[in-house]
Amino acid sequence: AKGFDVQAIRRDFPILSQEVNGKPLVYLDNGASAQKPQAVLDAMDRYYREMHSNVHRGAHTLGDRATTAFEGARETVRRFLNAGSTREIIWTRGTTEAINVVANGLAPRLKEGDEILVSHMEHHANIVPWQMIAERTGAKVIPIQVTPEGELDLDSFNSLLNERTRILALAHVSNVLGTVNPVAPLIEQAKKFGVLTLLDAAQAVPHFQPNMQELGCDFYTFSSHKLFGPTGIGVLYGRAELLEEMPPYQGGGEMIERVSFERTTWNVLPYKFEAGTPAIAEAVGLGAAIDYLNALDRPAMEAAEMALLERANELVPSVPGLKILGNAARKVPVLSFTLEGLHPSDLGTLLDQQGIAIRTGHHCAMPLMDFYGVPGTARASFAFYNTLDEVDQLFAGLQKIQRLFT
Ligand code: PMP
Repeated sequence: AKGFDVQAIRRDFPILSQEVNGKPLVYLDNGASAQKPQAVLDAMDRYYREMHSNVHRGAHTLGDRATTAFEGARETVRRFLNAGSTREIIWTRGTTEAINVVANGLAPRLKEGDEILVSHMEHHANIVPWQMIAERTGAKVIPIQVTPEGELDLDSFNSLLNERTRILALAHVSNVLGTVNPVAPLIEQAKKFGVLTLLDAAQAVPHFQPNMQELGCDFYTFSSHKLFGPTGIGVLYGRAELLEEMPPYQGGGEMIERVSFERTTWNVLPYKFEAGTPAIAEAVGLGAAIDYLNALDRPAMEAAEMALLERANELVPSVPGLKILGNAARKVPVLSFTLEGLHPSDLGTLLDQQGIAIRTGHHCAMPLMDFYGVPGTARASFAFYNTLDEVDQLFAGLQKIQRLFT
């Protein structure tokens, strides 16, 4: 075992060693966007210094270098997901666009009365695209209920799954609660009804490595910027047979085989879904982020993350009036909370004054806020580079704020 030296790891992330408001930065907003290791910055810099050109043009050496780097990153993603083929790895702008590509692509299969199952804990990115498609096709979007602990209500799932269900679209991990949903058995059940399945893995992949062969989902989506890579790029994994049948999302260059005014035909996978010049340096950066993660001792890293969550849970009672939303049996290190007598956004500002970055608001999950009867929460979301000391600082900060402002 390589073990896990968090101080050494922190040195790989230049942004972490700075002061904010006169205090050492404690970055606990990783669920919104994670920081980037030097290896990612270097890979993108080197790409622009030595390789940049447009891809897939093949006319000169730089074009070949750029194409090799770009397609190499696609292969890195394929291996990360254990997908069968790079034909199944589509670059998108992020999770949001990936889900929109799928919703748009499945629309021709939907008709009046068909049902799309989502859950009450989804991010808006996994609700609104389905609502837009439902509007176009006459299908209905139906939410699976959530328990007060913040887990999917399996009775609700079982009672809603039926012959009318066409699509099941679920968060692999909740961005608000950190709940890891038991997606594999749900997918298996859905398949008995011929239902197509999509997972929103934006909050899953930063914490554990998924396996497409084991999960059995039809579509899997995530964003690079939450996986320690750059913004502006993300991934749609889709089963090749389904991608073959789906209409393209956007038209333009790259995505065609032949264009004429009589008849235009589509390019092969994955290019059919990649109209226009792609985010080349960003793909290279994401590849470097995955290489960086692959070099870590993953079991040790996951154990270190669980230790952060345990420490946080131990400290919760030390702050009077602090309430945690959800308490799932299986979760990643994310805590959503309210503090009695203080608005979440004031809480965020007061913590920021102590150098502690968290997120406040509805977290793009308004239905879940409604379920818990709160307008918003404060959320601390941890990454493997956070330390137990930072957990202690968060709670020391909360204790101080509780004493002085409530
Ligand atoms: N789904 C979940 C669960 C998320 O947490 C987020 C990001 N907050 C998204 C989707 C959307 O990701 P992006 O904004 O990168 O497209």
